[in-house]
Amino acid sequence: MFNYLFFVLIYLIVCNWIQLYYLLGNVLKPHHKLTTVDGKGILSKLNKKTKLNLTIKTIAEKKKAIGFMVTSPPFKPVMLFSERLYNVLNPSEFEWVALHESGHYLMWHNVKFAFSQVGIGIVGLFFVYYFKMTSFMFAFLFSVILAVFYIQFVRIFEYQADYYAVTHMDNPKGMITANIKMKKINKTLDGNKTLLRFFVIAVPYEVRIKMAKRQLKLNE
Ligand SMILES: [Zn+2]
Repeated sequence: MFNYLFFVLIYLIVCNWIQLYYLLGNVLKPHHKLTTVDGKGILSKLNKKTKLNLTIKTIAEKKKAIGFMVTSPPFKPVMLFSERLYNVLNPSEFEWVALHESGHYLMWHNVKFAFSQVGIGIVGLFFVYYFKMTSFMFAFLFSVILAVFYIQFVRIFEYQADYYAVTHMDNPKGMITANIKMKKINKTLDGNKTLLRFFVIAVPYEVRIKMAKRQLKLNE
């Protein structure tokens, strides 16, 4: 029995470690502040493009440049950015991150993330049962492997959000410079060359820069 609970716990932690550590971790900090911001003056443009009534807030994360869409329809769209990300981007770079998060909302990605995670988790539980993984070591290894599989699978939603963003931007150059800045700031999250690549859902910075360059050519 305990190996099932152990499996579920490790699986959920590995699947959601970025949200747990950077989002929940920051929100639960004493004296944390959620600040509503004006979206660098492009909020009305964003509302027009996405047809959404967006609320943009920052969390007091000062080290990493990260962003989250925290809601899904039927709830109102609320996006959260770390102070570091929000402060470092200029309006045309911010347009990319805001459109990326809007894309997640418009395509119901948070619901799809949840269903994928539960679905893959249930298949995993069945395997734990079927192969009688009573050893905690096996349950641990298997939960990590399955979480990595989940992360690779749902990266498709990240590609969709980036595609939505790049095709709706005034100027995709902002996507290039935003990713150069984020890559520099998020050194330890930039898992392209390391094992971390397995554990981060986001599309690698280099791939996003290529997407933007391709779009610039199409726009010519
Ligand atoms: Zn995303």
